[in-house]
Amino acid sequence: MSTIDKQHLSKNQIFSHIKQNISLGDKNWFQTGGCAQYYSEPTTNNEFQQALQFAELQNLDIFMLGQGANILISDEGFHGLVIKPQLNQITHQATTPNAATVTAGAGTSFHDLIDYCLDHNLTNLEEFSGIPGSVGGSVYINLHYYEFFLADFLDHAQIIHKKTGKITTVDTHWFKFGYDESELQNKDYYLLSATFRVQQATDLEVAHARGRRQEIIRHRTRRFPTTGTCGSFFRNFLPHEVQNTEKKLIYVAYYLDKIGVKGELSVGNAIVSYQHANMIVNKGNATSSDIIKLAQIMQSKVQEEFGIRPQAECQLIGFKDNPLA
Ligand SMILES: Cc1cc2nc3c(=O)[nH]c(=O)nc-3n(C[C@H](O)[C@H](O)[C@H](O)COP(=O)(O)OP(=O)(O)OC[C@H]3O[C@@H](n4cnc5c(N)ncnc54)[C@H](O)[C@@H]3O)c2cc1C
Repeated sequence: MSTIDKQHLSKNQIFSHIKQNISLGDKNWFQTGGCAQYYSEPTTNNEFQQALQFAELQNLDIFMLGQGANILISDEGFHGLVIKPQLNQITHQATTPNAATVTAGAGTSFHDLIDYCLDHNLTNLEEFSGIPGSVGGSVYINLHYYEFFLADFLDHAQIIHKKTGKITTVDTHWFKFGYDESELQNKDYYLLSATFRVQQATDLEVAHARGRRQEIIRHRTRRFPTTGTCGSFFRNFLPHEVQNTEKKLIYVAYYLDKIGVKGELSVGNAIVSYQHANMIVNKGNATSSDIIKLAQIMQSKVQEEFGIRPQAECQLIGFKDNPLA
């Protein structure tokens, strides 16, 4: 695969897959935010490289978009190039009589990946059932649910360098995974595909995994809002951040629950979910600015009451200064 060749691309050349002024409001879970100055949905590694090349030549900022389940886009939109990879292929390969690997393109929905696995008698990933997102976004944040972290299943991955377009295969250590952490967050590389270790299962084991999947989804639907939200808005505290608090609890929802915001606190059409104190919901016509104002009030209330300031897990895209710093 070739790397970016600046000489063969004139400064004003624009590829057919790069569009201008594309609305992002319908491409994220909050359903808010303005337009992308430039927007591309590459369907091949080659188109992905071209998009990076375009941004490099035009000196554009890049934002890599998955399903928009963990972001809030500014009402002013994103000045630069938004790339939403449409690399959606899934394949699998047996490695031993009981084990296999499954490889999915960065744009694959995690839901589809789990479906594929169960349809091919492959288990392990069903623990992440009901969590929205693409494979790219999920590796980026090290997707987690209770004791399960995606890092524990990742075998290797293909990444692409932002400036050169060079494609490399890396193993799981490269990612330096932690809670909500991965090397991708340094934004020098983007994920093209990821390969996970899975179990080759019998029909009976698959039936059990399908049952587990339904149970997790049922449980989540009862506990969390499922539309108009980015899931947890603030990340849990790190142990050193809660050292001076009375209970030393890291769970941010505990502190938010205590200040009584659930289903009560709102700004415009943005409200704290009645189901979960750490989830903000767009009731209909909320703007990103409503959501920011609400989040700022939540931060201030926790700070006043407990002396610690929640930090956003939801990523803020297209804001000039971080309004939640
Ligand atoms: C209702 C709800 C429940 C949720 N529950 C959970 C949960 O239980 N556990 C959990 O961990 N999360 C949860 N989340 C958060 C969200 O599901 C995950 O963060 C998910 O992985 C986001 O994926 P995405 O494709 O939507 O990423 P986006 O929101 O589109 O992007 C998130 C970040 O990933 C980066 N990114 C996306 N694709 C790539 C790529 N190819 N290469 C490099 N970077 C990339 C983006 O640039 C961005 O910085 C929940 C969200 C919602 C809405």
